[in-house]
Amino acid sequence: MTDRYAVIGNPIAHSKSPEIQAAFARQTGQDMSYERLQAPLAGFAATAMRFAREGGRGANVTVPFKLEAFALAQARSARAERAGASNTLAWRGTHWFGDNTDGVGLVRDLTVNLDVSPAGRDILVLGAGGAGHGILGPLLATGPRSLVISNRTAARAEELARLFAADGPIAARTFAELGATSANLTAVDHADATALPWPETVFAPGALAYDLKYAVEPTPFVHWARLHGAARAVDGLGMLIEQAAESFLLWRGVRPDTAPVFALLR
Ligand code: NAP
Repeated sequence: MTDRYAVIGNPIAHSKSPEIQAAFARQTGQDMSYERLQAPLAGFAATAMRFAREGGRGANVTVPFKLEAFALAQARSARAERAGASNTLAWRGTHWFGDNTDGVGLVRDLTVNLDVSPAGRDILVLGAGGAGHGILGPLLATGPRSLVISNRTAARAEELARLFAADGPIAARTFAELGATSANLTAVDHADATALPWPETVFAPGALAYDLKYAVEPTPFVHWARLHGAARAVDGLGMLIEQAAESFLLWRGVRPDTAPVFALLR
């Protein structure tokens, strides 16, 4: 029988996850289906539990439900525990198991696809949302020289800096304090594409700017970064495909080759 998987979010119509997972399934010969599920804003847990009752074996979880997915999971991977957020659920017969593949997805895109090692770099993370929770641990595990996190709501950045203090050299700065910060790897976890409220001096020579968002055209941040001194600026399509491959590995026990899927989608 075909195994059912889904991506749950709100909104969800734009998600590329079904195309990515279908390509992985074709490539590896897995008998599975993968659909989009839009959960009501107040109805994530009910939607995920109904999907399990109807035979769902696993789900990706996207904006705005990653913290609720973490809370719903009755067992979790160490990296999900560390992140406090889940983007991947696997049904374990009686309960959901929660994982977080966002951070490993970003690090794999940087190191394998873009040939950029975060080790020894000064990293700046702009934003402290659901994705920010997932990327800090894996970024710090690579051994950067420093990691500054900055967010519109400063208290959130301070809280994350406290939570990850034991993992590496992390510090929180307000947007106003960023004038004195320049980084050679800047990752943006930012939901509002119309507001780019950072000083133009954040890019050190040779800097890579990385927007977690992805789009057919260069994103506003990618465009802005190229104008203001970033040596390279890329969007998050590679991270999306790599985090999907990690989810697929958890569900099916086989790691798909991501390069042909990147070529297909780009
Ligand atoms: P989120 O939890 O809603 O977080 C949004 C962040 O954006 C918060 O830090 C928020 O700051 C900030 N923000 C929103 N509007 C702002 C404004 N006008 N000015 C300044 N800051 C603003 O979202 P998320 O889950 O982290 O996702 C963020 C983006 O990354 C989304 O576009 C998502 O699709 C993308 N993403 C991509 C991947 C991938 O695989 N490529 C994975 C995960 C996420 P406050 O705390 O002050 O509200």
